Amino acid sequence: MARLALVTGGTRGIGAEVSRALKGAGRTVVASYAANDKAAESFAAETGIVAEKFDVADYAACEAAIARIVDAHGPIEILVNNAGITRDATLARMSREMWDAVIDTNLGSCFNLCRLLFDGMRQRKFGRIVNIGSVNGQAGQYGQVNYAAAKSGIHGFTKALAQEGARYGITVNAIAPGYVDTDMVRAVPADVLQKIIARIPVGRLGRATDIARGVVFLTADEADFITGSTVSINGGQHMY
Ligand code: NDP
Repeated sequence: MARLALVTGGTRGIGAEVSRALKGAGRTVVASYAANDKAAESFAAETGIVAEKFDVADYAACEAAIARIVDAHGPIEILVNNAGITRDATLARMSREMWDAVIDTNLGSCFNLCRLLFDGMRQRKFGRIVNIGSVNGQAGQYGQVNYAAAKSGIHGFTKALAQEGARYGITVNAIAPGYVDTDMVRAVPADVLQKIIARIPVGRLGRATDIARGVVFLTADEADFITGSTVSINGGQHMY
């Protein structure tokens, strides 16, 4: 039977391409989202992938959603923690709410979903977890102390959990994308974006498919000797 993958934020942007690519690789896929019903409905209609609405920052909501998904489709063996948000401002202008929202959504979600799925993966002696970090968690970024802290936290979380999963056939890896052409990056002012592209040696923004290819690679059954790693997919922007 096809292994079941849950891709958070899997109905738009990078996550949508990850969902499509995992389906293309023979996985059964459930894609989660937070609020954009219209995007989720058209994605589900176009791909045949089930979309589940729940807030990844809310532990109880994750617990209820996982119960629904497992009930309908069986155990989740592949988890892609992709959902993320930005709330950019310099520290001087950043509210506590902006800090909490980004930490809870981007990093707290990794705790919530891994905490809820890890025991089952241990019992079945198989699991593939990929956490989506960011070049800005590796290098920092002006106006993003919240986002850089959350993404940097993902990289540490990944290495620690990889050690706990290793004996149980569970691999835990991260991907650190550079700037990828999605709604998140389209929100960056055009002049700032041009300066960013000028600093990318490959000379273009990333495509969501560039990241999806990495997820398929890391979640393959055969990728059982790769764990605790961070794969940078950034056009050479930051060589780490
Ligand atoms: P998008 O803004 O295009 O999509 C984000 C997705 O996450 C949406 O499906 C959204 O749901 C979902 N989401 C947001 N908050 C929540 C929540 N609380 N609960 C459940 N789902 C949620 O983002 P990208 O595709 O650009 O980014 C995907 C990931 O890649 C993020 O973690 C981001 O930080 C990371 N990344 C992106 C880069 C880029 O250049 N784009 C660069 C480096 C990292 P809904 O559709 O309902 O809003």
